[in-house]
Amino acid sequence: MHEARHYIDGAWAHPAGHAWLEVENPATGEVVGRAMRGSAADVDRAVAAARRALPLWSARSMAERIAIVEQLSAGMSQQRERLAQVLCAEIGVPISFARSAQLGVALADLAALMDAARQHAARTPISNSLVVTMPVGVVAAITPWNFPLHQIVLKLGAALLAGCTFVLKPSEVSPLNAAILTEILAELDLPAGAVNVVFGDGGGVGEPLAAHRDIDMVSFTGSRAVGEWIAAGAARNLTRVSLELGGKSAAIILDDASIEDSAKSVVASCMANTGQTCAALTRALVPSAFVAEWEAAASRALSAWVPGNPALETTALGPTASAVQGERVREHVRAAIADGARLVAGGAEVPGELPAGSVPEAWVRPTILGDVTPEMRIFRDEVFGPVLAVTPYDGIAEAIALANDSDYGLSGGVWSADPQRALQVALQVHTGTIGINGAGLDVGAPFGGVKQSGIGRECGAYGLEEFLETKSVMGAAALG
Ligand code: NAD
Repeated sequence: MHEARHYIDGAWAHPAGHAWLEVENPATGEVVGRAMRGSAADVDRAVAAARRALPLWSARSMAERIAIVEQLSAGMSQQRERLAQVLCAEIGVPISFARSAQLGVALADLAALMDAARQHAARTPISNSLVVTMPVGVVAAITPWNFPLHQIVLKLGAALLAGCTFVLKPSEVSPLNAAILTEILAELDLPAGAVNVVFGDGGGVGEPLAAHRDIDMVSFTGSRAVGEWIAAGAARNLTRVSLELGGKSAAIILDDASIEDSAKSVVASCMANTGQTCAALTRALVPSAFVAEWEAAASRALSAWVPGNPALETTALGPTASAVQGERVREHVRAAIADGARLVAGGAEVPGELPAGSVPEAWVRPTILGDVTPEMRIFRDEVFGPVLAVTPYDGIAEAIALANDSDYGLSGGVWSADPQRALQVALQVHTGTIGINGAGLDVGAPFGGVKQSGIGRECGAYGLEEFLETKSVMGAAALG
């Protein structure tokens, strides 16, 4: 049994006298841990501690801050297996993916942020002024469960490197990896209160934290609905806000692309992490002339994504994060079929042949739907499950219009035998990121969305800048 306790002002909360939330393994329903259920009073104490620590932490040199983030990264590497096992238990992610992607990406995030910090110019002469950067201040971070460590360290690493102090509210679905991360942080030479972690749910901790008058920035990753609410609250306090929200990203297959390679690559993007990836390619736009051939190739590619026990090394597709989430995904599939989509593979039934002791409702069949049109809900709604919608198109202009026909603008992909041709199409798709021929997340380059997918950028130098303010010292250009 793992236990996640608040860490406020450099001290762990005593277990007595607290309310707790249970953490269930979605694959088995077994309780694998518990986390404190915080309150507005805990948030107040954490924000006050972060405020007190701000002058101490921001006074450290960049070299000292980098050294601390280096130690954080080393601590995570040392705890790699424990973190991976906990991620597998609390979100049901296959153990091999937990190690390679969930942890691997989080470590790569920190490495890219440290590189950016090493190259950061804290003083730049511009016009008649010396432009200096300074930390935004006290940062409130609210994070989801799907890539929980990656989402936390992108904010935590950048904020610490920028000289900010930090109050984190991890997802109540996946608090246990954050508790291990907090253990590592507690061993570092940070001023008391520089990093505070308050566990709990959205109403009890997220709301009072996001609306707190003494924070300088809210950095949120999660659903669009909660993001809207947070932005409205931040507007009342004129707090800086960064939002990483959902997506419905399109893969454009051009007529000269390899059918087999593009199908395999799009299916992998859509199915990995059981489809619970904000930037997943969940819409495939395919020339009408070979859509049948492409769907057949995509169906063959599904053989690599057989639902199974996430604790086994060979499993690629685990359960969704809960039985409720599984039912939501199945409902999306049923709605799509009712709207006129054609079932190419998978379906709305619970998969057969699950491991003994499973909660079957948490699993979904990896599914491909054909004949999807812009009028259907499945064309627009984020499913957050392994469901691919295929839409035929005629001509590049129609493909680009279909890709852009979305409230979201997080990511996308273009496949072509001619990368230059792919680039010309990619430049016309209105999203924050887009990959050519299967290129995926690049943690050194900015990541984030346009339209309803969010505000701001994470990762690397752009991610660091989110946590910095500038000051122009006029008349000082020559003094820096
Ligand atoms: P969610 O919005 O339900 O929860 C995210 C966090 O917000 C959790 O910590 C939750 O406790 C907290 N929260 C909930 N209600 C709140 C409130 N009223 N005030 C303050 N905080 C509140 O999202 P989720 O279900 O954990 O994650 C899935 C969603 O996250 C998907 O929509 C997905 O697309 C999105 N996401 C986006 C990115 C990105 O980088 N763009 C990355 C991962 C996930």
